[in-house]
Amino acid sequence: MSERVAIVGAGLAGSLLGCYLARRGLSVTLYERRPDPRLGQPERGRSINLAISERGLDALRRIGLVDQVMADALPMKGRMIHPVEGPLDFQQYSASGDRAINSISRGALNNALLDAASALDGVEVLFEHRLLELDSQAGKMIFETPAGKVEAHADVVLGADGAGSAVRGQLLVEGAVGEQVDFLDYGYKELSIPAVDGEFALDPGALHIWPRGTSMMIALPNPDRSFTCTLFWPAGSFDALSNKDSIEAHFREHYPDLLPLAPSLVDDYLYNPVGVLGTVHTQPWQAHGRTALIGDAAHAIVPFYGQGANCAFEDVVELDRCLADTGGSWARALPLFEHRRRENTEAIAEMALANFVEMRDKVASPVFRLGKRVEHT
Ligand code: FAD
Repeated sequence: MSERVAIVGAGLAGSLLGCYLARRGLSVTLYERRPDPRLGQPERGRSINLAISERGLDALRRIGLVDQVMADALPMKGRMIHPVEGPLDFQQYSASGDRAINSISRGALNNALLDAASALDGVEVLFEHRLLELDSQAGKMIFETPAGKVEAHADVVLGADGAGSAVRGQLLVEGAVGEQVDFLDYGYKELSIPAVDGEFALDPGALHIWPRGTSMMIALPNPDRSFTCTLFWPAGSFDALSNKDSIEAHFREHYPDLLPLAPSLVDDYLYNPVGVLGTVHTQPWQAHGRTALIGDAAHAIVPFYGQGANCAFEDVVELDRCLADTGGSWARALPLFEHRRRENTEAIAEMALANFVEMRDKVASPVFRLGKRVEHT
């Protein structure tokens, strides 16, 4: 195989895909719109940590990265439910208590993948390259860069550019794919709980949940002994609290145990952005046997099963397997990839929506505790 492959997006899926394709001897260029994240600070309030489960670890293990990534991971063996009043309630994920999902820094994971990709022969990573235009039949791309517009060509173009994918947008304009984006009527905002005297303020062996019926908050531990909380509220509700007094009063009433643990609550609340949530359905995922979508670009899901990145990693493993099974024929591998993955990605999209109801409501019910839940948030 001597094709030149362009991967648009060097996030989680793109940088992992770069590693897999380079190991097949392909010449790969990764185009990323952001500056090199290894040189700067992470964006404020944007999903700092991720729950990575066995599905994601499998993809890392196959390229020898799992030990490095797991070195800083914090295993969470169950959920810790925080009621408005009364004692905390720990619910193990597995009956034996030995199974866990892992809290991993999104930035550190992305940086490890970028390091691994950049170290491989045949991989070039170009930052500050934002895809503006694509001719999917000709493999021609136009990028916006600090030096102006740049034209590039590739035999194969893979869109790993996330939920708002520009590659998908271009394929849509060409009439090569159709999309449906179902926005959830909820937004999310990140808050933080710092370490107290160098120690975790909450049990780091659990994923913490504050189920509140129509809304909920979760918190995952970070290696620096802080926790990142994600508050999921109906869209529009965030604006109702606009000053220190109203924010503190609200949290005192609904999340009383958080208030003393979150000294920067008011600042976090006022200055961290509200993220949108939705499910992306695309059909087909590929065009002309030489351009395809992968990860969130093809099938973004809501985050309530903690499986979006895990699923994007599984995509990479499956695409690699399809290339192996077709003798490296992209024209046959890309449709085969879609055929093998679509049913699974549609299933997790539905399960993720269903798990929102479970997490914000049912986990607080005593009856629910009789059910067994494995490998999800
Ligand atoms: P992304 O990570 O979005 O990467 C896309 C990359 O493309 C980015 O680097 C972006 O800068 C770049 N890009 C975008 N446009 C362009 C362009 N025009 N030109 C060039 N580059 C471009 N998943 C889990 O498995 N576990 C979790 O616990 C979890 N928690 C989550 C919590 C929240 C609040 C959210 C929103 C999501 C969560 N997810 C989780 C989902 C997970 O974040 C995504 O599924 C995952 O990031 C998808 O990876 P990706 O590489 O496909 O897309």
